Amino acid sequence: MATPRVVIVGAGPAGTRCAQTLLAAGIKPILIDENRRDGGQIYRRQPEGFKRDYAALYGSEADKARDLHQSFDRLREHIDYRPDTLVWNLSQGQLCCVHQGQHSVLNYDALILCTGATDRLMPINGWQLAGTYSLGGAQIALKAQSVSIGHKVVFMGSGPLLYLVASQYVKAGAEVAAVLDTSPLSKRIMATPKLLARPGVLLEGMKLIARLRSAKVPVHLGVAPLHVLGDAQTGVSGVRFKDGRGNPQQLDCDAVALGYHLRPETQLADLAGCRLRFDEVSSQWLLDVDEAGRTSVSGVYAAGDGAKIRGADAAEQAGRLAALAVLQDLKLPVDVSVMQTQTRQLAVMDRFRVGLAEAFPWPSSQARSLPDETIICRCEMISAGELRGVVREKGACEVNRAKAFSRVGMGRCQGRYCSQAGAEVIAAEAGVAVELVGRQRGQAPIKPLSMLTDEVVS
Ligand SMILES: Cc1cc2nc3c(=O)[nH]c(=O)nc-3n(C[C@H](O)[C@H](O)[C@H](O)COP(=O)(O)OP(=O)(O)OC[C@H]3O[C@@H](n4cnc5c(N)ncnc54)[C@H](O)[C@@H]3O)c2cc1C
Repeated sequence: MATPRVVIVGAGPAGTRCAQTLLAAGIKPILIDENRRDGGQIYRRQPEGFKRDYAALYGSEADKARDLHQSFDRLREHIDYRPDTLVWNLSQGQLCCVHQGQHSVLNYDALILCTGATDRLMPINGWQLAGTYSLGGAQIALKAQSVSIGHKVVFMGSGPLLYLVASQYVKAGAEVAAVLDTSPLSKRIMATPKLLARPGVLLEGMKLIARLRSAKVPVHLGVAPLHVLGDAQTGVSGVRFKDGRGNPQQLDCDAVALGYHLRPETQLADLAGCRLRFDEVSSQWLLDVDEAGRTSVSGVYAAGDGAKIRGADAAEQAGRLAALAVLQDLKLPVDVSVMQTQTRQLAVMDRFRVGLAEAFPWPSSQARSLPDETIICRCEMISAGELRGVVREKGACEVNRAKAFSRVGMGRCQGRYCSQAGAEVIAAEAGVAVELVGRQRGQAPIKPLSMLTDEVVS
């Protein structure tokens, strides 16, 4: 039998451990990543020539980052690693890739999608102003380039990343004006039994909040975000919100980092025809995978945050497990007891995931109260009022139909940042539960790309 061609998309914690496991079993995988360097999001390596040490870059996760990078460095010569390569489409069992403007097509016998997650965003009036970033964007500016997004930054939204990035900014010497969290304390208290599934991680989270408080950063819980203030010429100048008691408040700042935890990158799996299911706990569509990462399409697997948002430790485990599932399906020998142990460990991490989703809930009700003039789709500049209009006037109560009429989700981001909030607006206007309005289908190109033609015009 010819050696099977196994392709992994994503060189983060999941993809790296997946490649390592396959290589140990004698399979040389192709590992593709659109980034120039390995490490994925959390263990993103700094650009060549930058010299910050591991402790400065990765804090309490420095040892794990070093371990993953060293593992990758040992692998690199023995696998077919293709950095700086975007997979922009998946059609008829072929991956469409682009590297430095050059297009190529790749077949596979098994495909493991380790594509991670991105920010989950809820619009707010004024979020289109220059100076409003996603939390992930704010963190990448700091991690990759040692740059703060502003002189005085407000962190607004909910989820563990909110506190993490705010404390990373404080540590780097930036001024954090406030952390504004939409989730109330009561949700965290109720979620504590589930969060205790990973006491070490819970403790680290509590330390982050303590660090913010000792740096005298105001932390408001249970807020209702109202407005990012400013104008088109000078950008962000402040934020307006209601505090936990319902009192209006206003803060000066020149940048806002916004985010409500994460959403998985499922577009390639979607284009492959993999089934998704609505996850009540996190109120979003997730890939329907078995515990080892098998999707509903034979030969296509998913691991890490792209399948379920469980964090980096779980991504490493899930990457290993998906590789073992591939080997098992290829009828190669695997140690089933190892798979069982990893599955059990992932189940514990899943309990923690549910705890986080309950402690920091996605604020779906916020979408209902967005004023009509709030921009939902920043690429196409479509407002909540326009979107509500297509529901009312055209009867477009399904998201893809509403997209066709309104252009929400039709711009450069392909709905990756606006589609979930858009679905909430549609559902609220139609008076139905959000899972009933569906989800935006993946469309190629899944991300913006540049291509060169064969002919060079001089
Ligand atoms: C912006 C952001 C910041 C985060 N910061 C932290 C943090 O500070 N601490 C923490 O504990 N957790 C953080 N998380 C969560 C953490 O990064 C993840 O839990 C962990 O990295 C998951 O590992 P993964 O391998 O599944 O995905 P990732 O680490 O996200 O890796 C996915 C890889 O896939 C590549 N990729 C995706 N799509 C394509 C494509 N179409 N073509 C080619 N390559 C592709 C990406 O370039 C990336 O390298 C963050 C997540 C995000 C999104």
